[in-house]
Amino acid sequence: MWFHPATCHHQHDSTPPYSSPYKGEETCRTAFQKALKHLKKEGKKHMKSFTAIILLLFSFGCMHSGESKMGDHGTGEGKGLSSESHQEHERTHWGYRGVEGPGHWAMVNPSYMTCETGRQQSPINLTMPRHGHDQEDLQFHYQPTPLTIRNNGHTIQVNYQKGSFLLLSGRTYKLRQFHFHDPSEHHIDGKTYPMEMHLVHQNDNDHILVVGILLKIGKENVEFSHVGNWIQQHTGHRLPSTNQEVPTDILFNIMDVLPNDRHHFSYHGSLTTPPCSEGVQWIVLKTPIEISQVQADRFVTTMGPNARPVQPLHQRELLEQ
Ligand SMILES: [Zn+2]
Repeated sequence: MWFHPATCHHQHDSTPPYSSPYKGEETCRTAFQKALKHLKKEGKKHMKSFTAIILLLFSFGCMHSGESKMGDHGTGEGKGLSSESHQEHERTHWGYRGVEGPGHWAMVNPSYMTCETGRQQSPINLTMPRHGHDQEDLQFHYQPTPLTIRNNGHTIQVNYQKGSFLLLSGRTYKLRQFHFHDPSEHHIDGKTYPMEMHLVHQNDNDHILVVGILLKIGKENVEFSHVGNWIQQHTGHRLPSTNQEVPTDILFNIMDVLPNDRHHFSYHGSLTTPPCSEGVQWIVLKTPIEISQVQADRFVTTMGPNARPVQPLHQRELLEQ
């Protein structure tokens, strides 16, 4: 009979998304007591050392569940997009490091299999694009929104109120939310950027379009400073990863941070977070926007690294406009 920390982990996974954060630990404790009973019954020799090892394994496993107890039930691109897979997605632990890291997402939950087997995955290295012959008409129609911020444990996410959209060659995609990755997920000619912002849109047929905007170190971004200062003043530097929406008194328009140059790459890809669903239209603007080193550092302090590595292009076509 072998007990592994993963036992705790999986049991914790099956708890509903917003249940008591301590449930996983209780399950671990129960399982640990069972393990102890089993050993006593079998009258193993070297009881003490066995017990010590199992205690160590369980305490690691339970502690591990406890550490990520409130931070890992959010979503990335898919937040706010209602689907069963996304509900399932919120129940499972995944992250950016170690056994929960991007290389293991397909093993964390069977519904994340596309993360490993998909042939149209994101992000990618944006290099050697083909120039699109048909001129794509890209228009942003973003309105100011009362800002509500959420730390879902994977990223800082801002949900957008209704009324903002983009037009891509006459097709309408409504802006649902934006969030950040550190460092950038997309590379340009093999080069990473300090951060990347994702503007997640959805059309009436539930197709997702994400606009990626790269962030480089430069002058302070005043619009983001309002948000950063508010977080610092009201939550003591760190926005707690409770996955709760925190209302602010800030009126924010994402239009104010967009670069003037709208030249971009486009390709067919996926969500960059589990369940890595494909069929996502990607547009990555070629011109980065600037933030100060202090602003970038502040984000790292809150979130830590949260970028999925680049994925193979396979047979896809990368276009530029
Ligand atoms: Zn993203």
